[in-house]
Amino acid sequence: MSILYDYHLHSAFSGDSDAPAERMAERALDLGLKGLCFTEHQDPDAPDTGIDFTVDFASYFACMERLRAQYRGRLQIGAGMEFGIQPHLPGTLQALCETWPFDFVIASLHFVDGQDPYYPSFFEGHSERERYEQFFRTQLETLQAFPPESYDTLGHMDYIVRYGPNRSRFYSYEAYAEQIEPILQFLIGHGKCLEVNTGGFRQGLGEPNPCAGVLRRYRELGGELITIGSDAHEPQSLCYAFDQAAELLRGLGFRYYAVFERRNMRMERL
Ligand SMILES: [Zn+2]
Ligand SMILES: [Zn+2]
Repeated sequence: MSILYDYHLHSAFSGDSDAPAERMAERALDLGLKGLCFTEHQDPDAPDTGIDFTVDFASYFACMERLRAQYRGRLQIGAGMEFGIQPHLPGTLQALCETWPFDFVIASLHFVDGQDPYYPSFFEGHSERERYEQFFRTQLETLQAFPPESYDTLGHMDYIVRYGPNRSRFYSYEAYAEQIEPILQFLIGHGKCLEVNTGGFRQGLGEPNPCAGVLRRYRELGGELITIGSDAHEPQSLCYAFDQAAELLRGLGFRYYAVFERRNMRMERL
């Protein structure tokens, strides 16, 4: 395996996972990783889905300290968060970053119009194209509301295609270039990373999120900064399809990926 760090994963500190953090770390050791970074769901002011997507950060950081002591010299353990961006939440994110010593922050758009695209009702009464375009437009507008220093990477940029009625059948970079290119330009212009989320492979899309076409365009535009994560919610999904992702990325001309410690970026060879 040439990718030795998994920088997007969840444990029981996230509302939708029941995996003990220690089991994720054990699995990482078994797989021969050098490091992993927990990125727990922090989605303040989320639409009511019956799941609490906020983290008890005091317990979380206490656990991270325990694990770091336990695995010192064997496995690097990052404490990060996947923050669910919404236009009114920049202050909330900044306050969290001032309070807790995060290694890494993923900014992810999980909600549009106060609704979660994960549920089919999001698409009712709208064409798939309309909703996909709206998702990308909202993503850019929301990112623009956040100070660039408040996050490190944009999570699963096109993950809405996991949930549309036709999923990625009519989706490609070209079909949505008008909405997607400005997002890529924005990230490049602000020195932010684009995440390569291998959950897309796990979800049966045959590619990561974002798709190969988007990654190709990012590279063409001069984008070099990527982070890589499996979005595992259980130990067996850690590093999912990392070999396929590495092959794809190298084929597109990427040679490095970024990892973060206390919000400082370091490049690792692909
Ligand atoms: Zn997410
Ligand atoms: Zn996630």
